[in-house]
Amino acid sequence: MRPRRRQTSTTLVLAIWGINAFAVLIILLVVMVYWARQSAQAASQQTPTVTLQPSLTPYPTRYDLPTVTRNPLSTEIVVQTPTPFVFSNTSRALPIGMSVSGRPIEVYTFGTGARQVMIVAGIHGGYEWNTIALADQMILYLTDHPEVVPSDVTLYILRNLNPDGDARDHGIDGRVNDHGVDLNRNFPINWSATWDRSGCFDQAPTTSGIGPGSEPETVAVMNFLIYRKIEALISYHSAALGIFPGGSPWDKESTRLAQQIADVSDYPFPPIETGCVYTGTLADYAVSRGAAAVDMELSDHLHTEFSANLRVLKVLLNFSKQE
Ligand SMILES: [Zn+2]
Repeated sequence: MRPRRRQTSTTLVLAIWGINAFAVLIILLVVMVYWARQSAQAASQQTPTVTLQPSLTPYPTRYDLPTVTRNPLSTEIVVQTPTPFVFSNTSRALPIGMSVSGRPIEVYTFGTGARQVMIVAGIHGGYEWNTIALADQMILYLTDHPEVVPSDVTLYILRNLNPDGDARDHGIDGRVNDHGVDLNRNFPINWSATWDRSGCFDQAPTTSGIGPGSEPETVAVMNFLIYRKIEALISYHSAALGIFPGGSPWDKESTRLAQQIADVSDYPFPPIETGCVYTGTLADYAVSRGAAAVDMELSDHLHTEFSANLRVLKVLLNFSKQE
């Protein structure tokens, strides 16, 4: 029996060692699986490395906007869905664009002749609201007296180029558009980002825009001048400085128009010199498009001086370029 017992115990020892070895293998396997899972988890939690592209120069969005208080007398214009322009006796208004805040910019047309002349009012909005009032008086007058327009002439009256400024305030805060831009510095002719403010309007912050022709109001009138051959143009302002011919130096035909206006009115020509350098103006742009053009100033910020400007209107209607 002894040899048999020894054989049994040997088998038992081998079995125990076998179980031990198996257990060690299982433990090793578990440790390896655990380690592998931990590594994978750590890898997934790592922040991915992203190579940033060189950034583009951001489009400037900062405007030097004046702090404004809304004029309590102004009423908000409700912008209707634009409808196609239908020219009729009862509707003379041609929408040519929208302001920054979506107010319509409209041109009124009188006459059907080949020679085309134009009046632009309200480029400085509510600060020069009396120019808009003057344009409205002219529109009413011409509706009643269409015979004033010679048969060979078409007259366009853009009554209010800066309706946002007009809605904002009838004072210095109404001068700029809703981007804080002085529209009469925004045209793409002699445009400058900055200018010496001495002798110029400096009562409130203004800019010339983020670039030449950056404003929708400017673009509206530019397109109008590009697609029509305007022979003579008056851009109305207030107040007091007189008549400024377009062009730098003054364009010859624009100077002749200024002189003819001065001959029938008391508006100073040559204008009062303030030392202001005017950049990016509508009159200079109109000259670059082939028109004789003047910036002209009413005597104050209150009156339309209608009878004097009726004489000015007749000068404009009868002006034809000699060159
Ligand atoms: Zn002005």
